[in-house]
Amino acid sequence: MADRYLSFTATAPGRFLTARLGLPQPAPLSRWSAERPALDGPLLHLTAGGPSGLDLAPVLARTGLPTATAEAVGAATGSTGGGTASATGAARSGAARPAAVVLDATGVRDVDALAEVHAALHPVVRSVAASGRVVVLGAPLDARDHHQAAVQQALEGFVRSLGKEIGRGRTVNLVRLTDASAAESTLRFLLSPKSAYVSGQVIGVGAAGAEGSDGPVDPARPLAGRTALVTGAARGIGEAVAETLARDGAHVVVLDVPQAEEDARRVAARLGGSALTLDITAADAGERIAAELPDGLDVLIHNAGITRDRRLVNMPAERWSPVLDVNLASVLRTTDALLAKGALRRGGRIVATASIAGLAGNAGQTNYGASKAGVAGLVRALAPLALAEHGVTVNAVAPGFIETRMTAAVPLFIREAGRRMNSLAQGGLPVDVAETTAWLAHPASGAVNGQVVRVCGQSLLGA
Ligand code: NAD
Repeated sequence: MADRYLSFTATAPGRFLTARLGLPQPAPLSRWSAERPALDGPLLHLTAGGPSGLDLAPVLARTGLPTATAEAVGAATGSTGGGTASATGAARSGAARPAAVVLDATGVRDVDALAEVHAALHPVVRSVAASGRVVVLGAPLDARDHHQAAVQQALEGFVRSLGKEIGRGRTVNLVRLTDASAAESTLRFLLSPKSAYVSGQVIGVGAAGAEGSDGPVDPARPLAGRTALVTGAARGIGEAVAETLARDGAHVVVLDVPQAEEDARRVAARLGGSALTLDITAADAGERIAAELPDGLDVLIHNAGITRDRRLVNMPAERWSPVLDVNLASVLRTTDALLAKGALRRGGRIVATASIAGLAGNAGQTNYGASKAGVAGLVRALAPLALAEHGVTVNAVAPGFIETRMTAAVPLFIREAGRRMNSLAQGGLPVDVAETTAWLAHPASGAVNGQVVRVCGQSLLGA
């Protein structure tokens, strides 16, 4: 279902009219394409809270973005700059607007140092290009130092607030890390057009040494030689995930219900993968997948999901059970079966699909909200165990309003509210969830574990 309002506000009269009426002003987002794989502009690297222990410069250099200096950006915008933040990077790239700003705030340990976050970003934030990125780097909260914990937690409120006000398709995220190289895949994702609809997120990245790839990874086809199974991949978000993992080199197994066999085969044929028709709620679904893939698999994407909305007072058990069965029980069953059989190879990745409805709650969706919150619980609890015992990471994506058949069926006014009630004032596309999934499935993302990452344009629903 086309977003006509977004198309209208992209025209000059549309912009004029909606601005006069005080209506939302969504900016068309720049997404990844083979022709435009990178952000369009330089990267500004700032520091707050004193020198950081992170060896960040080489990691940022590998993003391929030229570096800008704070002075050049100040000259571009007529701003004087200020504060104690310092810009690094030798190459002055003239007065181009930065496409990305990375603020290393890992050294912020008290309220005075927090002022340096303001001093660093205040003069430059206006200059960030449309569809640009602000990424703040924080340290893990120190349980033995409540001042450090307070100001590092303060960064979350800062980032989420800036995300809500920055506009023009720009995103703001916080990454907590201790090791820049372990966070490289995450920084590359956030500093690319692939993360167009990810904003207001706090992502924790562990230390290096976690399971990753055995050998060198081809950056253009990081999943080459790997097998990925995507449930519910005959259409919608699952189809986009299958497509994106195939782009990244994976052999993709497109799993869907027998009724969707034709679509599943069509998707598989297009992607050079294979189709597997199977109802994921079957008691032996895990065993059947393992039998179908005797050599094992590397990436398991639990995407299949259904809704049967009704307020609790009107919800019979027949509407409750199938939602819990497809969205949660089958995810638990198949995950347990595949891990127990050793069908997921070491270095493997599990990505489950939650939803903002599970994190924030949604009227009419007690069944769906419960199932999706359950997915988040499963991910957080299983992640350390699965990594320790099987060398497999477990994460979740939590989509917000994504333009699919599922949301096209939502009544007009609720649909329009869903589209606009986020910081980017528009719905996401299936490819936004797919790109986020591909980052989590990346062989270099072994230090990202137990995370629930919302792909929701920073929906105003919930935290
Ligand atoms: P969709 O209805 O377009 O596609 C879901 C696919 O899953 C279909 O192909 C369907 O046949 C398949 N499926 C359903 N039950 C199955 C079963 N028992 N076994 C195997 N396959 C089964 O949905 P979508 O919008 O693409 O959503 C994909 C996932 O994202 C779901 O988990 C959904 O809950 C979640 N999600 C979607 C949105 C959104 O805005 N679209 C928001 C939040 C979360």
